[in-house]
Amino acid sequence: MLGSFTVSRPTELEDALRLIGEDSLAYWGGTELFLAMKMQLLVPDNLVDLKAIRQLSDVRRTDSELVIGAGVTHEQIAEDKTVRESAGLLSSVTARVGNSRVRAQGTIGGNLCFAEPRSDLATALLALDASVDFRSATGQRSLTIPEFMLGPYWTAREPEELLVAVRIPLPAPAGVYLKFQFTERPSVAVAAVESGADQPVRVAIGAVSEIPILVTADDWSGIDAAAIAAGIEPVPDLTGSVSYKRHLVEVLVNKAVAAVQAGVRDV
Ligand SMILES: Cc1cc2nc3c(=O)[nH]c(=O)nc-3n(C[C@H](O)[C@H](O)[C@H](O)COP(=O)(O)OP(=O)(O)OC[C@H]3O[C@@H](n4cnc5c(N)ncnc54)[C@H](O)[C@@H]3O)c2cc1C
Repeated sequence: MLGSFTVSRPTELEDALRLIGEDSLAYWGGTELFLAMKMQLLVPDNLVDLKAIRQLSDVRRTDSELVIGAGVTHEQIAEDKTVRESAGLLSSVTARVGNSRVRAQGTIGGNLCFAEPRSDLATALLALDASVDFRSATGQRSLTIPEFMLGPYWTAREPEELLVAVRIPLPAPAGVYLKFQFTERPSVAVAAVESGADQPVRVAIGAVSEIPILVTADDWSGIDAAAIAAGIEPVPDLTGSVSYKRHLVEVLVNKAVAAVQAGVRDV
C-alpha cells in the first residue's frame, strides 16, 4: 500500500522548480517511483507531476546536437524520425527497453534520475557522449554522463534540481547495442560505436557493474575484450556470478566489435 501524499500538477516549468525538493519529488511515468514508494524506500510528502509541462516533451535537432526533453518516453524516442535519422542507436535501444507498458509510460529523464544500475539508456548515452541539463529555481547546469552517474540509485542531481533535457553531440557515433537478459532488465549490455576516421572508437559496458563504464581506443584493434572483462567489477546476483558475468562481457564485447567492423549499424 502507498502511504498518503499530495500531488501538484504544474503546467509551467518555473512553478515545478519552486515545488520540488527533498520531500517533494518530481515524477513522470511513475514506473520506478511508485514501486519504490510501495516498498517504503521513498516516502515523499508531495509528488510533482511533470506531465503537463509541454516544454519537457520536445525532441529537436540543431547543427551540432540532438536535444531530447526529459519527459520524452522510450516509445516516443523509438518512433521519432529525428532521433532515428540522427542517433539511430538510441532508437534501437529504447525500442527494446523493458515491456510495452514501461516504454509507453517511462521517460528518459526518469530512467536517468532513478539511476537503476541496469539502465540501458545510461549505457547507450555514455557511448554517445551525451550530457544532461538541469534547472533549479536558482540556476542551471550541464553534466556529462560520468559526472552525473555516481552509483546505484545515486546521481549528482541535487533534490531541488530537475533534469530538463539530454543532449547528444552530432554527428552521433553509430554502432550496435547488444544485451543479455533473463528478466525484463539486462544482466550485461554493451554499446560499441564509431564516428569515422580520426575519431576514437567507444565501447560502453553497462548493467553488470554499479555504473556503466566507457573504454575508448584509436581503432578497434585497441579494444581487448578479455582485458575489459578482467577489469570490470560485476555485481553478482540471481542472474549470474562474477565470473559468469565477466564471461558474458567478453563475449558481448567481441560480438559487438565484430558486428560494427562488419558494417552493422543501429541494432
Ligand atoms: C518492469 C520494468 C522493466 C524495466 N526494464 C528496463 C530495461 O530493460 N531497460 C531500462 O533502461 N530500464 C528499464 N526499466 C526502467 C524504466 O526505463 C524506467 O522505469 C523509466 O524510464 C522511468 O521513467 P519514469 O518517467 O517512469 O520515472 P518515474 O518513476 O516517474 O521517476 C523515477 C525517479 O526519477 C525522478 N525523476 C523523474 N523525472 C525526473 C526529472 N525530470 N528530473 C528529476 N527527477 C526526476 C523521480 O523523482 C523518481 O525518483 C524497467 C522498469 C520496470 C518497472
